[in-house]
Amino acid sequence: MVESSVPEQTTRSGSATFPTILRELVHRIRREQFETWFRSLSLVQVSTQDIEFSVTSTFVRDWVQKNYTTQLQEAVAAALGERRKVILSLREEDNADARTLVSLPPLEAEVSRDHGAPREPGPREPVAAAMAAGPRLAQGESSALEQSLRRRLQPSQLNPNYTFDKFVVGPCNRLAHAAAIAISENPGFAYNPLFLHGNVGLGKTHLMQAICHTVMRRDPNARVLYMSCEDFTNTFIQAIQSGNLDQFREFHRSVDVLVIDDVQFLANKEKTQDEFFHTFNALYDAQKQIVISSDRPPVEIPTVEERLVSRFKWGLVAQIEAPCFETRAAIVRRKAKGRGVEFGDEVASLIAERVTNNIRELEGAVIKVLGLATITDRPVTAELAEEALRGVALPRQAQVAAEDVMNLITSEFAISGRDLTGKSRTQAVSSPRQIAMFLLRDHTDMSLEDIGRLFGNRDHTTVLYAVNKIRERSQKDRMFKEMLDGLGGRLLARTRR
Ligand code: ADP
Ligand code: MG
Repeated sequence: MVESSVPEQTTRSGSATFPTILRELVHRIRREQFETWFRSLSLVQVSTQDIEFSVTSTFVRDWVQKNYTTQLQEAVAAALGERRKVILSLREEDNADARTLVSLPPLEAEVSRDHGAPREPGPREPVAAAMAAGPRLAQGESSALEQSLRRRLQPSQLNPNYTFDKFVVGPCNRLAHAAAIAISENPGFAYNPLFLHGNVGLGKTHLMQAICHTVMRRDPNARVLYMSCEDFTNTFIQAIQSGNLDQFREFHRSVDVLVIDDVQFLANKEKTQDEFFHTFNALYDAQKQIVISSDRPPVEIPTVEERLVSRFKWGLVAQIEAPCFETRAAIVRRKAKGRGVEFGDEVASLIAERVTNNIRELEGAVIKVLGLATITDRPVTAELAEEALRGVALPRQAQVAAEDVMNLITSEFAISGRDLTGKSRTQAVSSPRQIAMFLLRDHTDMSLEDIGRLFGNRDHTTVLYAVNKIRERSQKDRMFKEMLDGLGGRLLARTRR
């Protein structure tokens, strides 16, 4: 399809190369993104050192530069067989667009729009001007936008698994969960807006979509819109390009619940921020529910205007933190059960202990363990889990050598290596020993057995007991945790030296 619509190359050189580069590019990015951002891409020249492309708007140039440089470089390298410096320049709006248009519908369908009465130059005309291309409407594009907007209100747009009953609640997410429940029962009136923030993979999208599912189920006529911030931006630009801004606005300002995910992507996007600001106000004034998520708190989103930041804080700001051990173990069990397998305590703790700060990775670990059990037709035991997860340790952890841990502990606690690995059970040596086991577990990719062997052939359950004991203590005792973190930090510092 792409091949058929790649036009003949008319630039000065590289006539055979350009379609190849475009093809390589399409492999690296989503088709929608390709159509939005590379419509006006044209090849200017290729030299032995660099390759120059041009586009017709500063907005697009900056966007591509910021978000797609790597993909563009890779596509060039793949097409030319070697890397070149990529230069993006600006060219006057010209008919080159028509030549390089690599989008659907096909070129023949592109017609100039019959505006009817000239549109009033509204306050946001500069946006269209910034887009340089101005409205260019392909036949059917207006209804295409309308259709795609309407489709977004369907429950089928959501992940069917992201429901409240599949969400495990723990101290790390209790507030966010309670707020989400309250909102889904009383949209527009409980907390408005709800701003959820937390690191990636901690359940923001899950909770937000759970709100959508619930509201949609309770009131099938409710207009519930879930969008990533990127979707919002791209649709906005699409609306500008196709001259359907009014339609875009009307649609977004007439929903009952607006959920915008990953709003940190508004950073540096003044025009989109402006549009979002007005959307926000319109919905807020009409007491419609707004839910926003970000990977950081409102004030920490760089270059988002103060007026928008202050609005984000009007309602409730709830953080989702990394899950504690118990929550992780509960999630592991729930995810396994969802796949029809019950995990024993030992397996659940083992996985929960291995993957600590990202629930998506925790899920990945469960899948790995189940996968190995299926392939080898074995029951899920701690041993099998251990085997499946070998190498799951973060690269940072793999850099630390067992010897570093042993040296650190003997010098910090002033005990001999022989005592550390020996049989004595006095607290003066058994506590440092347990801490050493914990650090080895946390910072190396050694298995419980490996660690046991290091300590005079102790059993793996002894090691597991020690590791859990230290973790529990660090959860209850802040000073202890600080001491532990300090040791961990020194270990990494030693390793890097
Ligand atoms: P985020 O949007 O914060 O990056 P997601 O909502 O995409 O995170 O969550 C990542 C994965 O972890 C999803 O598959 C989600 O279902 C799962 N997940 C996150 N938190 C929980 C939880 N508390 N209980 C069950 N699954 C969870
Ligand atoms: Mg998310």
